[in-house]
Amino acid sequence: MSVTRITTDAEFRSLPEGFVFNWFGGKDPIRLAADNKLHKSSCGWVKKMNLSVTKLYSADLKEMVDYLTEKVGEENKKWSRCRFCFRKGN
Ligand SMILES: [Zn+2]
Repeated sequence: MSVTRITTDAEFRSLPEGFVFNWFGGKDPIRLAADNKLHKSSCGWVKKMNLSVTKLYSADLKEMVDYLTEKVGEENKKWSRCRFCFRKGN
């Protein structure tokens, strides 16, 4: 298991169940948490995206969260979870 960067459109369109991080980067502290979003790979927003913004994939949520915390920063400050696909009980 690992966190990988999605590099091809074919790969992006056929992701297995798991988690996708949309990594805008950016320096504006107001925008960071809103722009850099973690989604489930089944999320409707993910289906509308393309690879113009860096995408990371992991099948494992804990592994992804650990990776993001280390590489991107604190949750809800540097990145956040999509409220659409991470709704309660989902
Ligand atoms: Zn989502």
